[in-house]
Amino acid sequence: MAKDLEAIAKSKKIKYFLVSWVDLFGSLRAKLVPARAIKGMQKEGAGFAGFAAWLDMTPAHPDLFGVPDPDSLIQLPWKPEIGWVAADLWMDGKEVEASPRVALKRQLAKAMKKGYRMKTGVECEFHLINADGSDIADGSDTQSKPCYDQLALMRQYPVIGKICDAMIEMGWNPYQNDHEDANGQFEMNWDFDDALKTADRHVFFKYMTKTIAEENGLRATFMPKPFTHLTGNGCHAHVSLWDRTGKKNLFATGRKDPRGLGLSPLAYQALGGIMHSAEDLTAIFNPTVNSFKRISAPRTVSGATWSPNAVTYGGNNRTHMVRVPDDGRFELRLMDGAANPYLLQAGVLAAVLDGIENKRDPGDPIHLNMYEEGHKVKTAKKLPQNMLDALRQLDKNKVIREGLGDELVDAFVKLKLQEWDSYSKHLSSWERANTLDC
Ligand SMILES: [Mg+2]
Repeated sequence: MAKDLEAIAKSKKIKYFLVSWVDLFGSLRAKLVPARAIKGMQKEGAGFAGFAAWLDMTPAHPDLFGVPDPDSLIQLPWKPEIGWVAADLWMDGKEVEASPRVALKRQLAKAMKKGYRMKTGVECEFHLINADGSDIADGSDTQSKPCYDQLALMRQYPVIGKICDAMIEMGWNPYQNDHEDANGQFEMNWDFDDALKTADRHVFFKYMTKTIAEENGLRATFMPKPFTHLTGNGCHAHVSLWDRTGKKNLFATGRKDPRGLGLSPLAYQALGGIMHSAEDLTAIFNPTVNSFKRISAPRTVSGATWSPNAVTYGGNNRTHMVRVPDDGRFELRLMDGAANPYLLQAGVLAAVLDGIENKRDPGDPIHLNMYEEGHKVKTAKKLPQNMLDALRQLDKNKVIREGLGDELVDAFVKLKLQEWDSYSKHLSSWERANTLDC
């Protein structure tokens, strides 16, 4: 029996619920529903017009309903009278195939049938910038190697401390916060968990971070590359598959790993799936025009971009697309801050399941510094260089279509091509500077 949100509202003194969902572009949408009306909403869902969000729908489509998932409920630590719930989208009595959370749940159910439960952790990097978005918020944060800078970290303690306090209260088990590699950039880490829980938390983390920054007169951005000369905002994902009970890590090796990284044969097949589909997943993991200024980017003032440029994996080596930092898991370093939290997880799982089903071999790890010696690796596939190439790759891919569904991939590609079209018609100052005298 599903949890009764009306009863929970009474016992926890919740006055309003944010019935919340993200569209294909990852934009967060919600209705603020008074607790007196939540009983009906829990059954029927809150009504929306799908065309008004980034979904491939027209104004003629019937009502879209966001049905709250009571298991996702979070009472806002900084405003406890409000409860946040992730919603699944329904239309005409059916779940909407081309909606991100539904697509992820479908993938997870498919994995569960095969006896796999995916657990993930995400590292959502962000910049704290001033309210008008023109520069980083802290004018004193100027070191060329600012990573782990204690003074700059503590100048933002009012924001970072409040977010971490909230994570503790919500039971996410946060364990570290730091100043990252770019001026004005931070990262906060909490425990990995089941992929759906991590995706819901990822959505909520972005909302919470932006809100608490705004309450402090600042702004938080997860934009992949907000400043050309500084390291961009990645969203690395740590991935492992567990048995149905979630107690046994199937990526951990019970015996010696001949490749020396501490991964099981199953984990290598999963990794093989990721390597096989990486170029096709780029449109999902790096979904904006701006994303391509982060991957394959020139060196930043700190000395490295920390983002991949080719489809390679290594051991505990951050210059590769996939790092194996420890026994029993791998870290995907391709995704950025614009990735849709649900499609990120669904994309990973689609490639992982394909790798296992087809026993894909990732080849041997490469033990080179890809930033300095990448040219020596002649066989590595290169990542797409722009959004148009990435979308074309995704469009023709079978594995991701199989996993996420044709309806979702078609809708995503169609809407993103419209975005590309809008961008490519924009006349930039670079073009004028380089073409006026042609
Ligand atoms: Mg980081």
